[in-house]
Amino acid sequence: MGLKHIEERIDKALKKGKAGSPIQPVRLERDSTFNFRCYPGVSCFTKCCRNMNIILTPYDIVRMKHRLGLTSDLFLRLYTEPELLGITRVPVARLKMLEDEGGRCPFVTKDGCQIYTDRPVCCRYYPIGLASLRQAEKYSGEEEEFFFLVKEDHCKGFEEDTEWTVDSWRQDQESDLYDRMNRDWMELLLRKKSFGEETEMPERAKELFFMVSTNMERFRSFVFESRFLDTYIVDSKLLRKILEDDVALMQFGFEYLKVAIFGADSDMVKLREDILDATVRKIIKRRKKRRRRLQRLAKGRK
Ligand code: SF4
Ligand code: SF4
Repeated sequence: MGLKHIEERIDKALKKGKAGSPIQPVRLERDSTFNFRCYPGVSCFTKCCRNMNIILTPYDIVRMKHRLGLTSDLFLRLYTEPELLGITRVPVARLKMLEDEGGRCPFVTKDGCQIYTDRPVCCRYYPIGLASLRQAEKYSGEEEEFFFLVKEDHCKGFEEDTEWTVDSWRQDQESDLYDRMNRDWMELLLRKKSFGEETEMPERAKELFFMVSTNMERFRSFVFESRFLDTYIVDSKLLRKILEDDVALMQFGFEYLKVAIFGADSDMVKLREDILDATVRKIIKRRKKRRRRLQRLAKGRK
């Protein structure tokens, strides 16, 4: 079940308690227990790995392309399609299901998921959802999280005897690591949401967001081979690190987007003073020009 799909149903199930929803209308704590086991012996094995709406997070893409030994460009071309995400309309990559093979995921075989240890976060959370994104919808800098069970009728994994707590399940699935890696990116989505649905991102901002979210090689070239370092101050130790390390580069990218798209401050990447001064001068000039134009228009009407 994809992130978007789950998101759409959380309110219905948790807030309205709608019957028939696979999301159980119960908030779970970290020590809440449930029974579940997904393994080759279960009668529905691999049946759910089709027609899924899986939005890939930047960390998903880094893990998957490394696992497959591909460049980001090739990974994106072979396995994804671009999409504008929900009401935020920010550009993201979606895992492309194989339409002419009954909508199966390109990584599923009769033996299971071929990239199991590097599968995307959506696949790894099931059947425990984390509702932090939904709750922090009105971006406040604070996050309220809770868990919930997603129990699909066709899933026979719930009939198995293996008992988990939410915590032991999340440990088994590396969920804390994935949450940590995705947190700053999710925060960018929340920032965008907080600007209001009607505010469309400018094209250049969309391009930057998509590059940082999906393509580390392109972002690395952008940092080291464009005028980026003439514009921003970045610590040299950090620069050496992001030259080699995709995860460090991805995290740096989130800070950069915060500054470049949302005008926030960051200790990691700062606009150079002279560039900042020139930008401020440009804004003042533009505002003065606009004021003069409005004054002229007002005079003309009299
Ligand atoms: S990535 Fe793996 S677990 Fe996720 S849908 Fe595809 S085959 Fe299934
Ligand atoms: S339906 Fe449930 S038990 Fe069956 S393969 Fe999918 S997750 Fe596993």
